[in-house]
Amino acid sequence: MDVDDIGAVAIVGAGTMGSGIAQVFLGGGYDVVLHDSVPEALETASVRIERGLCKWEERGRLEDAASAFARLEVSPAVESLAGVDWVVEAIVERVEVKTALFARLGEICRPDAVLCSNTSSISITLLGAANGRPGRVLGMHFFNPAPVMELVEIIPGLETDEAPVQAAMALAEKLGKSPVRTPDRPGFLANRLLMPLLNEAMFALMEGAGSAEEIDQVCRLGLNHPMGALALADLIGLDVCLDISEVLYRETGEPRFRPCPLLRKQVEAGRLGRKSGRGFHDYSTGTAE
Ligand code: NAD
Repeated sequence: MDVDDIGAVAIVGAGTMGSGIAQVFLGGGYDVVLHDSVPEALETASVRIERGLCKWEERGRLEDAASAFARLEVSPAVESLAGVDWVVEAIVERVEVKTALFARLGEICRPDAVLCSNTSSISITLLGAANGRPGRVLGMHFFNPAPVMELVEIIPGLETDEAPVQAAMALAEKLGKSPVRTPDRPGFLANRLLMPLLNEAMFALMEGAGSAEEIDQVCRLGLNHPMGALALADLIGLDVCLDISEVLYRETGEPRFRPCPLLRKQVEAGRLGRKSGRGFHDYSTGTAE
């Protein structure tokens, strides 16, 4: 498949990442079908996407937000993906849920459609095997927030054909992103580097080495990071951080990926970060980083 043959795109999962990725494709001129199994998630995502496109128009990044938004179709029925050329899956980071979805996509989608996963850590080779057409399955890993972050990791599985990989590289560039081809190893490149840092910040907090504010201040002012490690974990979502850490730890057996017990406690308490109003920082008053 050539990048110029891609017309209709589907995004599966309308959460933090799916809504941002949908905005990116709409801004790039594509027709987008956004599917989620939870109808309320589609409603929330529509509002976010429209707001995001309008912001782009105000800033002169997009000519006509209304016509871009009109190219969005939302659907709670997975069958609505039948006619699309390109799929980006951005559902929950659970191996069993993703493999079940990829198996279903193998039955529904056109044989020549390319199926990408936005997974942070799960094996692309495994998703390709579950799908039954491993030659056309690859990783297309956007970063949070997708409308802002420039990097996209492009990850071929063991059986992925070269043509879809090249098309994904070209597509990412067409969307204004900078693609980097990365190997199909747990966490690929970005999360292999990032997760130990976030986890260590959580251990430091748990051990009383500093407050959340102090730890984040060290990251910003001493390490020159644009935001603190704990604030970044809150932005990603603590449930997502835990899921990624579990995969990294299970797949590698390396103690450096062991999820911090405090992270598990936060998730058990429903403190998921920005999306729930509280994580390592409190977002209910609007004063947190
Ligand atoms: P999220 O929890 O915000 O959203 C997930 C959405 O998927 C929910 O709306 C849920 O209803 C939907 N969903 C779950 N199972 C489904 C199914 N079987 N079919 C259809 N919809 C289903 O999660 P997120 O933060 O957007 O993460 C999504 C993916 O992107 C994960 O694989 C994650 O690892 C990856 N990712 C996340 C970030 C981040 O910073 N949050 C960054 C890069 C990649």
